[in-house]
Amino acid sequence: MDQLYKRTIKYRRLKFSKLTKYILFGLFFLAIIGVFFILFFKEKNRDEIHEIIEKKDYNIKINYPILHIKNLDQEIEKLVKENRNNFMKEVKKKNNNETYEYLVQYEKTEYKNIKNIHIYIQSFTGGAHYTRIDKGYHYNVEKEQLLTIDNILKDNTKTKLSELSYYYAMQYGSDNKIELNDAAVKEGTSKQEYNLFSFNQEGLEIIFPPYQQTSWFDHEIKITIPYEKANSILKEEYQGKTKQKEELPKLETDKRDLNQYKDKKLVALTFDDGPGGKTTEYLLNGLKERDARVTFFALGNRAEQFPNIIKKAYQEGHEIGIHTYSHKNLFLLTDFQLIHEINDTNDIIERIIGKRPTLIRPPYGNTNNHIKELGNMNTILWDIDTEDWRYKDKHKVANEVLKYAQDGDIILFHDIYQSSIEGALLAIDNLKDKGYAFVTISEMLEIKGITLEQNKSYFHFRSV
Ligand code: ZN
Repeated sequence: MDQLYKRTIKYRRLKFSKLTKYILFGLFFLAIIGVFFILFFKEKNRDEIHEIIEKKDYNIKINYPILHIKNLDQEIEKLVKENRNNFMKEVKKKNNNETYEYLVQYEKTEYKNIKNIHIYIQSFTGGAHYTRIDKGYHYNVEKEQLLTIDNILKDNTKTKLSELSYYYAMQYGSDNKIELNDAAVKEGTSKQEYNLFSFNQEGLEIIFPPYQQTSWFDHEIKITIPYEKANSILKEEYQGKTKQKEELPKLETDKRDLNQYKDKKLVALTFDDGPGGKTTEYLLNGLKERDARVTFFALGNRAEQFPNIIKKAYQEGHEIGIHTYSHKNLFLLTDFQLIHEINDTNDIIERIIGKRPTLIRPPYGNTNNHIKELGNMNTILWDIDTEDWRYKDKHKVANEVLKYAQDGDIILFHDIYQSSIEGALLAIDNLKDKGYAFVTISEMLEIKGITLEQNKSYFHFRSV
């Protein structure tokens, strides 16, 4: 059975007391203040300035950051405003149909307490090109200090920074298959203000904006100088962790007692253009039988081919110097290529024997002060050239040596010809009877008490 219930609700008329009215009014008032407060707070906390104006005659698009760091924000604002004013002056003078443009953009990065702001301003006021202004701001949060490149570098390292920048800019070109003009890059990197720098995990990053100083390139070039290199010019607090060096082999080289050779006449036999395969192996065996030690000036590209020969030579007490990577005439190379020819070869040898070479024999003996400075090695030439490559005759090779050898001589052979090897061993057998001992360059220096200087070339170590 259905029943209808009628519910009666009692309404009670709300009666506000005077006090309640005041309270409600007060709350309403607070709410309004609150809204203003939030708006104000928001304004204070915004971290970007945007401005967009689009007119028939001109467009303005501005976007730059607010960092809430007073002197930094002021500097950025000043830069943007000054350029904006200049732009507007051009707009007023304008008497063509083109639409002028003023564009401000930025990039913000932060690494290890340093905030970096890169502002770039493009403006178009007629003609064929935009003008572009790039400016970097760097702020050390911990020190509350605006940084320039001078604040992060050790004293007197600007030149070194230019040299490193040149190298890595050329590397950038080579990596990205962009043909860069060597002289222009050199000039560009030497005249840079270096106002766009930052740090990252790998090293010191530098941006070279287009069309600055010299028109060396029409795109931006961005390089990172790894900490391995950059640490030597950075103040200690800005130095970074160098990459874990790859594990180098720990090879022992067979050292011998040099006292036994003190009263002997010493010659340093040196072998270029190798390592050869079978020929060098044959030589190593012959030298071992005769207790003779020599110096190899290895080519990088051949050492890559025969690492085990290099290893064996080193372990048996011979010395490994370099003859560059690919036997080019160093006089014809750019600095970038020179550094490659020399450093790459040193890297290769170091990876094979665990020790970085210190001796270089430049191909054809072509070297000068500039090459020596770049290579940072000791230059060993020769005073007896057996011309073994020309005659390929073991008797002729041996005779050249026997005819001219004196105490302190450096004798040149090439270990890629069997006739050269046989000639050298023949010469050793003959000279041994005349009181000669056969030593590496370093052994010779040690016995004779000579210290090499990097700006010199050594042809022999004769006492007179
Ligand atoms: Zn050579």
